[in-house]
Amino acid sequence: MAKTDSQNLDKFAIAATLQEIAALLELKGGKDKFKARAYQNGARVIAGMAEDIGVVIEENRLTSMRGIGDALASQIKQLFLTGESSVLRGLKQEFPPGIIELSGVPGLSVNKIKTLHEALGITSVAELKDAAAAGKLRTIKGFGAKTEEKLLETIADHRRHEKSETRLHIHQALRTAEQIADYLQTTPESAQITFAGSLRRWKETIGTIRIVANTKRPIALVEYFLRFPLIVQVEEQDKDRCTVTLADGARVSLVAVRAEEFVLALFVETGSKSHVDKVQRLADEGMGSKGKRRATARKSASTSGLQNEEDIYHSLGMQYIPPELREDQGEIEAALEGKLPEDLITLPDIRGMVHCHTTYSDGKHSIEEMVRAAEAMGMKYITITDHSPTAFYAGGVTLDRLKRQWEEIEEVQEKVKIRILRGTESDIVANGALDYPDRILEQFDVIVASIHSRYKMDSEKMTQRIVTAMRQPVFKIWGHALGRKIQSRPPFECDVERILDVIAESEAAIEVNGDPYRLDMEPRWIREARKRKIKFVISVDAHSMGALHNVKYGVGIARRGWVRKREVLNTLGVSAFQSAVRPAG
Ligand SMILES: [Zn+2]
Ligand SMILES: [Zn+2]
Repeated sequence: MAKTDSQNLDKFAIAATLQEIAALLELKGGKDKFKARAYQNGARVIAGMAEDIGVVIEENRLTSMRGIGDALASQIKQLFLTGESSVLRGLKQEFPPGIIELSGVPGLSVNKIKTLHEALGITSVAELKDAAAAGKLRTIKGFGAKTEEKLLETIADHRRHEKSETRLHIHQALRTAEQIADYLQTTPESAQITFAGSLRRWKETIGTIRIVANTKRPIALVEYFLRFPLIVQVEEQDKDRCTVTLADGARVSLVAVRAEEFVLALFVETGSKSHVDKVQRLADEGMGSKGKRRATARKSASTSGLQNEEDIYHSLGMQYIPPELREDQGEIEAALEGKLPEDLITLPDIRGMVHCHTTYSDGKHSIEEMVRAAEAMGMKYITITDHSPTAFYAGGVTLDRLKRQWEEIEEVQEKVKIRILRGTESDIVANGALDYPDRILEQFDVIVASIHSRYKMDSEKMTQRIVTAMRQPVFKIWGHALGRKIQSRPPFECDVERILDVIAESEAAIEVNGDPYRLDMEPRWIREARKRKIKFVISVDAHSMGALHNVKYGVGIARRGWVRKREVLNTLGVSAFQSAVRPAG
């Protein structure tokens, strides 16, 4: 029954417990690692669910949610109704208290932690540190003075280590930030919650999720935040700010300020540090002939209160600089000279979904499902670009099946308003050729040409391979250009500038890939391409309907490369887009 609200755990508390179970299963290792993943996924699904969990449980619909099986559902139900989990109880009996926190210290095995608990009753890193400092560890069998010394060093490094090691992919950080924002909205303190830091600058990975809250009662809001159930460690805490670690390793910093301090706090928390420092220096110094005006402007701004971030920049006699550009890479100088582009690409500018996979290759959803999902997002067209035959491991589409796909596209087209374009993601094979015969290539509406194999070619050969591909006499879009997978595979070796030179004079454009694991090419290369007047498409590389929302990450990274609306082909209407990318000129 969902009526006894006061006794039921809320979704965040349930998610926190599932995280705890996952962490303990992870420690057990072996087969339990898979179970751990299931619990971790369950925690995300529960914390992120929009519906009332009580209603879902009452109607027995937990297992209809993605990734929640019978076993997990029964634990969630138990937690909701009783506040306890039989699985967690069992696991806790296998481990000493504090095991999760202590296992984060490098070099401390589960067995060592057990020994420490039995001998000295240690249940936290703080207690471990005290015991080591007091020379108590050396008395335990298997530890010794050297181990003790080493552990003290490790603990000292531990925080720094955690800070630098755990970086979240942008989509994970965004999801966590949104959960926290949801939670903070439930306080009686009316607050405006804004994301800052590298998340607001759309960086590929996020070290600390920074949140700035505009509230009448900062202290109360920080206290409320500290009760967020996924918090496992509070690193720093002050009246109006705190930094915490969540169960999944994410670091979160909250700054809570009153309305009059909000704009400045948001500016500082957004960073980057070198950008903020330089703007600050300009404000402090007041330079050249404009100095006096700026100083006056700043004074009036600080006394009258800044209304928005624009005021900060305008008061210094410069253009507004959007967050994605704040890296101190020439944007401040450009803004002072009035040369910053003011028509940067935005999400609503995108009119077509480019680079979509279906069940014809390695996508999860049918043509019709993908098409309808794109239509529901307000798109005017979608390009279906399944893999080509060489990508056999991804179910590359052979000629027979291609014919069948085109028929199906025609059938679906009858039922929908959005225009469906026939495309391919053609492999660039080792010698730089594309993967269908010319007579077929010419019949596509769109060709995305990508490298999916032999990443380790030497730089010269790889450059030649791509140059050859780009010079093929059909228009093509260079897909996920340098093949990087964020935090797992570096971009492959090649002479990017030479390739860009060739693209500039060939029938080709460059994809800005919105898949949060790719986000290829990088902003610095995007800017190099822009110098050569190369055009872009912002793609989703979607293998499911949900992944169509990747488009926002593509827009984010394009903005970081200073891309303007007019440089992006899929801002065009359908017929203009078609003629811009038509393979046979
Ligand atoms: Zn691909
Ligand atoms: Zn793809």
